[in-house]
Amino acid sequence: MAIASGHDLAGPAPRRRRATEPTDDPGLRDKALEIHARLCPVYGCPIPYFHSLDPLSELVSSLLSHRTRNADSGRAFKALRARFPDWAAMLEAPVAEIEATIAGVTWPELKAPRIQAILRAVAERHGTLTLDFLREWEVEAARAWLEAIPGVGPKTSAAVLSFSVLRMPALPVDSHHHRVAERTGLIGPKVDVGPSHPILRAQLPGDWSAQALYDNHEILMLHGQAICHHRNPACGRCVLLDLCPTGLGRMGPGQIRET
Ligand code: SF4
Repeated sequence: MAIASGHDLAGPAPRRRRATEPTDDPGLRDKALEIHARLCPVYGCPIPYFHSLDPLSELVSSLLSHRTRNADSGRAFKALRARFPDWAAMLEAPVAEIEATIAGVTWPELKAPRIQAILRAVAERHGTLTLDFLREWEVEAARAWLEAIPGVGPKTSAAVLSFSVLRMPALPVDSHHHRVAERTGLIGPKVDVGPSHPILRAQLPGDWSAQALYDNHEILMLHGQAICHHRNPACGRCVLLDLCPTGLGRMGPGQIRET
């Protein structure tokens, strides 16, 4: 079944134009760097990588993790690995078998066929079922190639390049990272997670290493989980309070409304 069209096996996908140049607003660039500098000591940069998967396995892991607790998606990933000798075998398996194997994640009935379709698209477009070839590509070209596959968005493409053994300099943005960025004013209130990727990346130096970008994602994500909660952010304990219009708006002069 043809999943993707418009791309052949002959060479790299056309480069997509992205806002990776420094952002036009030096104030936001300075703020992004200041946030990074304040959160790094709190969460202990450099942050150890939590995965050492090949990029195709990281793709499967990332697709499983959408709107799912880490523990549940981790269990589902291990279950797939235990059931199928390799991803090619999973590609040939009945979708119901995959769905049953990943039953612990959210929407297994959607994720099972989607994962199969995405892996099939990789095999069709590249000729073999691997993403190791992306190691030789520039980040933006690699992301564009991945995002040309239906069902692969900016967060997944960045996760594959950053979290896998490729260790490429890409910046993923998850919901926690996005919330902190929005509340601190790095992005506007109507910028969704997907479109926030190039904006937040452009606020950071273009020559930052993979580790530095990974750290930036991790510390904003961890801050969202530990302090800047979805409900009742603990602004009274936040090292970003004086930089954060949301926090300053919640905290009256001299009073703490921490909950
Ligand atoms: S001050 Fe409050 S709203 Fe702002 S980043 Fe900190 S916890 Fe989040």
